[in-house]
Formats: sequence, C-alpha cells, structure tokens
Amino acid sequence: MFWLDPYFPVYLMVIAPGVLLGIYASIKVKSTFARASKMPTQRNWAGKQVAQEILNAEGISDVSIEPTQGYLGDHYDPRHKVLRLSPDVYNGRSIAAAGVAAHEVGHAIQHARGYAPLSLRNTIVPVAVFGSNFSWIMIIAGLGMGFMKLALIGIALFTMVVLFQIINLPVEFNASRRARQALVAHGLTTQVEDREIGKVLNAAAMTYVAATITAILTLIYYLWRSGLIGGRR
Ligand SMILES: [Zn+2]
Repeated sequence: MFWLDPYFPVYLMVIAPGVLLGIYASIKVKSTFARASKMPTQRNWAGKQVAQEILNAEGISDVSIEPTQGYLGDHYDPRHKVLRLSPDVYNGRSIAAAGVAAHEVGHAIQHARGYAPLSLRNTIVPVAVFGSNFSWIMIIAGLGMGFMKLALIGIALFTMVVLFQIINLPVEFNASRRARQALVAHGLTTQVEDREIGKVLNAAAMTYVAATITAILTLIYYLWRSGLIGGRR
C-alpha cells in the first residue's frame, strides 16, 4: 500500500542502505547455515540434547523443551517457560542446530537470571506488534487525507516498533554470548565448534541489525514526510 504515497521513490532511496544490508545478511545467513548444517558436532547431540545439557549445567530445571512447526520458528517463551525448537533444530545433529538451540537457551538463562533488557523487551512486544501492523496505514492515510493527528499517532506507534528493535539488539547479542559461554564453560563444545557456532549466530544477528537500520530509516522518512523534520510542510 506504500505506492499510494506519492513520495514512494524517496522512501525507497532513504531505506536503501538498510534493505541492501538486509539482502546481504540473508544471503550470508543462508550460506552460513547451509555450511554449518553439514558439520556434525563432536558428541553428535541433537539440538534438543544440546539445549537440555546447557539447562542442566546452568541449574535451570523449570524450563521445558518442545518441538514446534515452521522454519526458523525457534523461540523461548518466557510466559510458559518453554523452549520451542523447529524440527531441523530439535532433531538436527549439526553445528547449525546446536548454535540455534544454544541461542534460545541463552534467552532462558537471561530470564532465569533476571536480565532486565529481556523483560523490558517483552513488555513492549504487544505495542510493537500492534504498531508494526497498523502504524503505516495510519501514517499514509493520515498524510494522504490531511489528518495530521492520525499520522502523528501512527508515527508514535511506529517509534515504539523502532524502540523495540533497538532494545532487541543487545538482548539478541547477549543471548548468543551467554549460550557460547555456557557451552565452553561446561565443556560441551570444543574451541573449533565454538568458532563455527559464533559464525552462525553472528550471521543471524546481522539480519536483526539490518531490520533495525531499515526501521530507523523508515522512521526518519516518516518524520520528514510529515514535516516534523527537514522543514517540509
Ligand atoms: Zn534470540
């Protein structure tokens, strides 16, 4: 629906750096995962075992692990204290599966240790979801029909989306760091494995960075488009 905006080409130019980085990141993720999916782990554990071993080693006994459907649907659910892993990760016996499983356990460790940015992120989630679904239509409709108040509400909502993504970055990097530290500290991975897991998790994190940059650039565009910055009215 963005093409309804007469300044659509300007929008494309503004967000181009973020989009290009996003394309690069997704290519990098695909190739890194394809490579790491063929690398077996030394202990030949499935992702679910890797996750369980870390939880045991970290003394976290109230988190359960379940398989979930869908590609890359892996997540930690703090409300139900459940680690949901996609079939490829749950059953996969590769560096890629181990890395993703460990990263999700990283979120469970954050939760167990009361890591504040995680709870802050989870608090903003409902507003961010609502904002990412409806903010753009409020902004485009508001600007197009001259309802400035509607556009401003939309921009405020979209600001919450951007805020969510910015807070999400340290949470994601921290989860990967905790995961790798736990794996190494408890002797669950070798140094070579740790390096490969690092490559997988860094590639995945880059997609978050690209999405955040795109969102920030989109917000700048909205601010310019609505005349709040850059002196356009
Ligand atoms: Zn994560």
